Amino acid sequence: MRKTKIVATVGPSSQGPEVMRAMLQAGVNVLRVNCSHGTPDEHSATVHNARRVARDAGRSVALMFDTRGPEVRIQGLEAPILLEPDQEIVLGEGDLTVSHPGLADDVPVGARILLADGALELVALGKRHGGLRCRVLVGGILHPGKKVSVPSIALRLPVLSAEDIESLEMARALQVDYVALSFARSAQDVAGARCALGNDGPWILAKVELAEAVNNLEELVEAADGAMVARGDLAVELDPYQVPLVQRRLVRLCNTHGKPVVVATQMLESMITQPAPTRAEVADVAAAVWDGADAVMLSAETAIGQHPVGSVEVMGRAAMAAESDRQAMRIPGLQGDLVGEVPAAIAEAACRVAERARASAVICCTYSGWTARLVAAFRPSAPVVAATSREQVASRLEGIWGVCPVLIEEAQGTDELLAFSLSAARDKGLVHSGDRVVFTAGIPFLQAG
Ligand code: PEP
Repeated sequence: MRKTKIVATVGPSSQGPEVMRAMLQAGVNVLRVNCSHGTPDEHSATVHNARRVARDAGRSVALMFDTRGPEVRIQGLEAPILLEPDQEIVLGEGDLTVSHPGLADDVPVGARILLADGALELVALGKRHGGLRCRVLVGGILHPGKKVSVPSIALRLPVLSAEDIESLEMARALQVDYVALSFARSAQDVAGARCALGNDGPWILAKVELAEAVNNLEELVEAADGAMVARGDLAVELDPYQVPLVQRRLVRLCNTHGKPVVVATQMLESMITQPAPTRAEVADVAAAVWDGADAVMLSAETAIGQHPVGSVEVMGRAAMAAESDRQAMRIPGLQGDLVGEVPAAIAEAACRVAERARASAVICCTYSGWTARLVAAFRPSAPVVAATSREQVASRLEGIWGVCPVLIEEAQGTDELLAFSLSAARDKGLVHSGDRVVFTAGIPFLQAG
């Protein structure tokens, strides 16, 4: 069984039920809706379709909404244009209007401006009629709607736009499992999203893609329910050579807090057009697995690529191959305030017992999902079977390393709870007659087994 989970972005290549079904069969655990693209009606339709396809396939799948965030885009262009090196252009004027009218006020003379994730580069020369006069340093074709990034400059944009608030309200109403908060900078940004989503709302993953977020990594991880290494924007914002270092730091930090962490972007980029990955891409997936990622993510590969199902299959095979070398995996365990707390101590002990007794599963009876997350934080070699009577908890746990969620009826006492959990694990083929299993539970009437 693969322990590392797969997040796949839904888009034109994968929103049809056939492809979605095939992607689930190929092993997708989390479907991501990127709110930067499409309309609210399309996002809602994707959620309903995904749930229907998963139900028909007898599977649970987690759903993630990824907010657009305070990004700036080219707005006025109707068709691609060529920008020549040394050419002067004005952002915010004529064909090149931008979605942030205050851009010229926020960007100082001499600042670098990147278009289309760094494919084109400009330098700011000053203001003209409210627009920003720039010289093209690296030219190329500029397509309509492309992103405008100003590395290391804090643009005066709220982390949640009116459109983002609408996405959060929809995420709450549709009870999606995760919200990935784009361009989160601080604990305060996470608190703002939490306010819109409610305390029992979707788990919030702070997307780390700004230098400011890298400076506030600890407080972001404390405030959020997990994080995402958003390597696309991070590489535009920072020196790209620093991105692997941030990846390792953030993954470790989340691991030690028992919080899920996703490594994202360009993992199998060549598979947007090619049926097979490059050697380097396979090695990148392996590195994320060995770093300790809960999940690895496919973006354009499944959203607009030519091989969405093949990409999922390759991702699964690359992750499984890496997992076969347990020595290579970093298993930091829990640290900080959690250490010494009774639930964490029991979780660690349960994993040790499972290892020594060669148990075929650690079965966690869980109400909020927390017990299963604690156990998974110790990365046992046996699967963590999370038995819960709450459908929402089961689908959220799809995104957590090593956890196989199973739904059970509400139990009246300990014996019934154990019997229901065991029988659900058996029905799913996760344990068999004669197997040893270890039980843990995070509820008052059951301490540990
Ligand atoms: C990223 O920048 O790597 C990312 C995951 O965000 P988006 O896909 O929204 O650009």
